[in-house]
Amino acid sequence: MPESLSTDVLIVGGGVAGLWLNARLRRQGFATLLVDKGTLGGGQSVKSQGIIHGGTKYALHGALTGASEAIADMPRRWREALDGTGELDLSGVRLLSDAHYLWSPGTLAGNLTSFFASKAVRSRVGQVKGDELPPALQHPRFKGKVYRLAELVLDVPSLIARLAELAGPSLLAAERIEPLREGDELVGLRVDGRDIRAQRIVFSAGGGTAELLGALGLQQPAMQRRPLHMVLVKAPTLKPLYAHCLGGGPKPRITVTSHPTEDGQWLWYLGGELAEAAGVARDEASQIAVAKKELAELVPWLDLSEAQWATLRIDRAEPAQSSQARPDNAFLAEQGRLLVGWPTKLALSPDFADRVEAALARDGIRPTAHAALPALPRPPITGPFWEGLL
Ligand code: FAD
Repeated sequence: MPESLSTDVLIVGGGVAGLWLNARLRRQGFATLLVDKGTLGGGQSVKSQGIIHGGTKYALHGALTGASEAIADMPRRWREALDGTGELDLSGVRLLSDAHYLWSPGTLAGNLTSFFASKAVRSRVGQVKGDELPPALQHPRFKGKVYRLAELVLDVPSLIARLAELAGPSLLAAERIEPLREGDELVGLRVDGRDIRAQRIVFSAGGGTAELLGALGLQQPAMQRRPLHMVLVKAPTLKPLYAHCLGGGPKPRITVTSHPTEDGQWLWYLGGELAEAAGVARDEASQIAVAKKELAELVPWLDLSEAQWATLRIDRAEPAQSSQARPDNAFLAEQGRLLVGWPTKLALSPDFADRVEAALARDGIRPTAHAALPALPRPPITGPFWEGLL
């Protein structure tokens, strides 16, 4: 006889979306189990730049869009969670920067001037100068303008560690996950020989979700992958910088975040346009060469003679969209007991949890009594992925 367990909500995938949802549901008294085949947070989450943005970068073409409005409340919700007064208690999580910056290296193009002058933007953005500038840009040779955004940057490994702590005993390492059906109805999952019944099953497995759906014979919701080719540089001369460098187009030319390394240096993690289509087409050496040229142009005073360089290829997993456009919100689809989704951004994990909770409330799903969980094998928790690369 296989071991049988029951729970209210069974979550598959412990990136930030699944872990956040799990912690929220547990706080409301739901019994939950979260199963993961790999390392908690070790997918896209730890490889993200950790920016809790409020959508301002999506308005670079000069008008606030649906995306900017939908995401606008996220910095406040995360800030409250970090203060210990919000929907989760994330008070121990390391805040890397309490602001992200927009950095215009030259004179602003006309449409950006009006963008910064518009009322909606003025309330979110303030220009900084002199010693208010990010440390890496405080240099006599610095030219350009810098605007402070009311957005945060988090140390993702410490976020994942805290969310795993909030999961208590609800974590289960999995190798083999199969559907558990009664008649035609999916009633749970068989995980390594354990039958787990649940009122609802949530797939939040990032890039692994398409395969999970395939195992159930489902093609919908369709997923898309957006490949990126990120660059990492570590040097004793680097100082922290959290900024979108504007290039005049709708996407930042480079997005820089800075991460502390075990040997006491700073590492810059470079994304933005650099990491998108043209960057994806380059091999590692050419991608590094382009990144070096960009930094030589943008921060020419920086001595990178002792720098170590690496690149990272990683796909963003999202619901399929026409023309690979970025989705505006967290996404959730439903089919019977199964809920499937992607937060589409780390920052939107609270929005993803809202959507699941709304679906549970609509269907009258409430916490019920279950036998205490036995001791279960726990999945490992991610550390800073860059330590293995540089
Ligand atoms: P993941 O973090 O990918 O987690 C999925 C989990 O599911 C993993 O733990 C994996 O082991 C598990 N899993 C996979 N398959 C299975 C299976 N078959 N069975 C069981 N478990 C499985 N967003 C922002 O808001 N701000 C940013 O600054 C930002 N920067 C980014 C930079 C990069 C380079 C990338 C790639 C993304 C960035 N994002 C950012 C987006 C953000 O990282 C993702 O939207 C978010 O992390 C997705 O979280 P997730 O939990 O859905 O997926």
